[in-house]
Amino acid sequence: MTVRLYQSDAYLRTFNAHVLRCLPLNDHYAVVLDQTAFYPTSGGQPHDIGTINEMSVVDVYEENGDIVHLIMGTLPLGSVHGQIDWQGRLDHMQQHTGQHILSQAFFAETGAQTLSFHLGEDISTIDLDTDHLSPEQMTRVEDRANTIVMENRPVIIRSLTQEEVPTAGLRKPPTVKGTVRVVAIEDFDLTACGGTHLKSTGEAGMIFVRRWERQRKKIRVEFLCGWRALRDFRQKNNAILHLAQSFSVGEWELIEAVERLQAEVQSCHRSLKTLKEQALDHEARSLLSEAHHQDHWKIVVKAFEGRNPEEVRILSLRLVHEEGVVALLGAVNEMGRLFFARSSDLPMDMAELLRVTCEAIGSGGGGGRANLAQGGGLPNQEVYEALAFALQKLTS
Ligand SMILES: [Zn+2]
Repeated sequence: MTVRLYQSDAYLRTFNAHVLRCLPLNDHYAVVLDQTAFYPTSGGQPHDIGTINEMSVVDVYEENGDIVHLIMGTLPLGSVHGQIDWQGRLDHMQQHTGQHILSQAFFAETGAQTLSFHLGEDISTIDLDTDHLSPEQMTRVEDRANTIVMENRPVIIRSLTQEEVPTAGLRKPPTVKGTVRVVAIEDFDLTACGGTHLKSTGEAGMIFVRRWERQRKKIRVEFLCGWRALRDFRQKNNAILHLAQSFSVGEWELIEAVERLQAEVQSCHRSLKTLKEQALDHEARSLLSEAHHQDHWKIVVKAFEGRNPEEVRILSLRLVHEEGVVALLGAVNEMGRLFFARSSDLPMDMAELLRVTCEAIGSGGGGGRANLAQGGGLPNQEVYEALAFALQKLTS
């Protein structure tokens, strides 16, 4: 079994060790040492990165009690020098120690127990065994956790014998039997854990709950500690200052300013809709005044270039709203579209007219009802031909 140097000294950044095995594994080499400061992926905490004899360690995992380091090249048996990436490890220890504090704060303030922990690349999460948390409760939990941070309490690693475990006051019963490694945050929390921890709570920095959401019968809490919390705050602060400047308001008036803008946009949309409808009415009246007269009814024939086909369709409906009107309209865009409509007092079948028109032109297709039919899929220049054919068919 590999000796885990990080368990007795989580602040150890460099170490010497002996190579016991170095075997090729896919594109890498799997190296087992007699002792290591590299933390393997476990307990929700990701593995360390770093180097062994200047070669990059890309993965670290446990296998039958040993710790396997995946590296890019081979190593001879014998003495080697290892170095872990300290910035990465410190970040992990801040999030991990912060999680111990936060989990106990949840338990103490709300009775909610932590079911699992995940330390992600950008954010960390814990799942709680409750389906309700109020914003007030969350504030109390955050305040409690940050009080523990600011009191800078010692974090101490101890061993408990199996006999000591039941009466020790652990937050959760341990998952392992025999002697248990526990992490004690003075007069606050006692938890069984094999991970890496800070020496005192102050080093965790601010503990900040970013958001939380219900997932079935549990609640997932996203949180940030230490440098991550500062980076998040800085980013949001910059965004808020930028927005406040563009709205020319103070930071605390931003929500009001955005709500005002939303109301204005909605009112503009309503006005625009009314104006569009008025414009269509006006256009329909103008087209009707220039329409072909056939016996006691009128025919409007027109192709619209570059106009939204839906608008052309609505225009056709406006035209036939009046009695005794047939509208043969086309939209010329990427592809040609046809809209044939007639007033309800006229007898012609527009779907049939569209069918024979497309057949005669030799392209396009569509369908609809006797009073309104629409077609498409014909080249633009054929829209004009189709309208001329349909007009001729209707008037002959
Ligand atoms: Zn831990």
